[in-house]
Amino acid sequence: MNPALRADFPLLERTLDGRPLVYLDSAATALKPRAVLAAEEAYATQMTANVHRGKHALSEEASVAYESARKRIARFFNADPECLVFVKNTTEAINLVAVGLCLSSDDVVLNAGGEHHANLVPWMRRARVELVPGDPCEPVSLDAAMAAIARHRPKVLAIGHASNITGVIQPARALCEMARAHGVITVVDAAQSAPHLPIDVEEMGCDFLALSAHKMLGPTGVGALVGRREVLEALEPLCVGGGVVERVTATGYTLKKIPYRFEAGTPPISAALGFAAAVSYLDELGFDDIVEHERRLAAALSQSLCEIPGVEVLMARREPRLAIAAIAPRSALVGPDALARLLSDGHQIMVRSGFHCAHPLFDRLGLEHGALRASAYVYNTVEEVQRFGEVLRDLASRMVV
Ligand code: PLP
Repeated sequence: MNPALRADFPLLERTLDGRPLVYLDSAATALKPRAVLAAEEAYATQMTANVHRGKHALSEEASVAYESARKRIARFFNADPECLVFVKNTTEAINLVAVGLCLSSDDVVLNAGGEHHANLVPWMRRARVELVPGDPCEPVSLDAAMAAIARHRPKVLAIGHASNITGVIQPARALCEMARAHGVITVVDAAQSAPHLPIDVEEMGCDFLALSAHKMLGPTGVGALVGRREVLEALEPLCVGGGVVERVTATGYTLKKIPYRFEAGTPPISAALGFAAAVSYLDELGFDDIVEHERRLAAALSQSLCEIPGVEVLMARREPRLAIAAIAPRSALVGPDALARLLSDGHQIMVRSGFHCAHPLFDRLGLEHGALRASAYVYNTVEEVQRFGEVLRDLASRMVV
């Protein structure tokens, strides 16, 4: 990746205690380039108005810009713009599907295991969740997935395309093909994959794809649910009110066509414009370069974390993988939160700590103190990742064992 791109990210100019910071928490949320900030500012300063609610010049301009953003983002995923619903985030997108499918408690939803709570709890609330057994540091085996489909006869297969803990990338296309051949509805949580991998929904063959803009250089407060037309049209909206209805009488209402029937109330207008700027920025970087940079960052991360005393490292063992790793101290003496604070306050390195919205995975692995998580992205350098490894090794050798 051209190191000059770091100048596009104002936050990288910030210092802590007079020293530059190392941001290794992009799996939680990514930094925002100037192009995204400018798109949001242009809405605020040039065309503030609500969308699809008026005929004055500003309202028309805002509506056109909002729909252009939808088209731009749909093109990024090779989707039909009418099949792209703006939502708040991945969590809301998955809730929309989980509620909208009108599942019953007898229905089974198959998870790949190690899923983020966003791709687990909404299903638990409506149905019975079963897992495809497997190793969290490896992609699920297609044989195991087939056996789970035959055994549990699920209505839905809901898989995280890329893990927010280990960086494992699931074979989404093959899983969707297999599931759909057995009449199973497929939902792909692309919260972690969409920032790092080129996604073509047609090629992937999923019924639904859920993602958040803020993890892919865009603003917080907006994401997308992309659906296949037939399944999206059959989905019950999560929320109704203004903006979703064609006509309301004293006794009832008719809903608008997709995608508007799912966008109740004032949508996240400026965030949607920022989201479109983010995907344009990613396209300009080019996914060939993004993927290659990720490969180098992941290799550096894996190398830097090998054989650190007193910690267990959870990271995808094979490529392709994301540059994400979880590091679990074996002793409770210095837990992940304390380590994260030491890294931040003593070394200006930002990493996340905790259970990473995956309690069942930590329970299964017996890692009762949680883990640190380092996650790198386009603006990180191999040197930053190596520095993180060195500092962690030093802290671990002095404090953890
Ligand atoms: N799915 C995965 C794999 C994630 O990593 C996350 C967030 O970290 C989510 C879903 C939820 O994303 P959001 O908080 O933007 O809804």
